[in-house]
Amino acid sequence: MELEIVEQQENYGKFILSGVTPTFANTLRRMIMSEVPTIAIDEVIIIENTTPLYDEIVAHRLGLIPLKTDLENYVLPEMCECGGQGCTSCEVSLTLEKSGEQDVEVVLSSDLISQDSKITPVHPNIPILKMSKDQKIFLEAIARLGRGSVHAKWQPISTISYKYYPIVTFNLDNCTFCEDCVEICPRDIIKIKDEKIKAVNIINCSLCNQCVDVCELDAVSVSTTNDKFIFVIESTGALSLKTIVIEALRLLKEKAKEFKVHVDEF
Ligand code: SF4
Ligand code: SF4
Ligand SMILES: [Zn+2]
Repeated sequence: MELEIVEQQENYGKFILSGVTPTFANTLRRMIMSEVPTIAIDEVIIIENTTPLYDEIVAHRLGLIPLKTDLENYVLPEMCECGGQGCTSCEVSLTLEKSGEQDVEVVLSSDLISQDSKITPVHPNIPILKMSKDQKIFLEAIARLGRGSVHAKWQPISTISYKYYPIVTFNLDNCTFCEDCVEICPRDIIKIKDEKIKAVNIINCSLCNQCVDVCELDAVSVSTTNDKFIFVIESTGALSLKTIVIEALRLLKEKAKEFKVHVDEF
């Protein structure tokens, strides 16, 4: 198995995974979506709410705020020594207390005060609610580690997808260099110069087959490899992209070992 990073920004990445089966590629995607844990607000104790927003909606919005996650110092409640009762290893408390001082006051994610300076909202400017002058919100939010398979708020990514690695080839015996395929390609993949035709930036090919359809001489063909995949991943910022992929592979290895033990016992 080989992993080649094509593009890496803070919360966005593109990589090519080769030497694996389609099943493995899909398993990695599902492990990232469903099994890599992050910290998210899981319980909200409303002490006072005189804003126009219902308690339930406030709680729902708080749950969806991505929080920076520390996998080294927190464990899932079901794996914690406290037995899930709640302790500093499996949960963190954040408080929010704000009164309307202006005609329209916006409560932001940065108004959440965390008892652990490492577990804070990824973005400080996420609006939670608006309130008028003299209205008030006062609450305590308990954040816990959880998995995307239980609730989407715990997914470490906002999107992850992959596609088969494209192959675009030309039959030079048939090609008249008419440039019809060049003009129709929406991704600017096909180039013709000095009676030579080639595909460039192949990973951008969307496999739309428009070049094949437009060529009346059957001089272009589009196919895919079965063991090479282009992944696009966008994290919520709760974890770094590197941590997400490494953690997913580690958890997959653990699950495979566990599966083998069960098979051996069979
Ligand atoms: S449309 Fe067909 S014939 Fe024309 S340049 Fe493309 S491959 Fe060649
Ligand atoms: S399949 Fe679509 S994107 Fe790919 S080279 Fe052909 S026209 Fe361009
Ligand atoms: Zn605990």
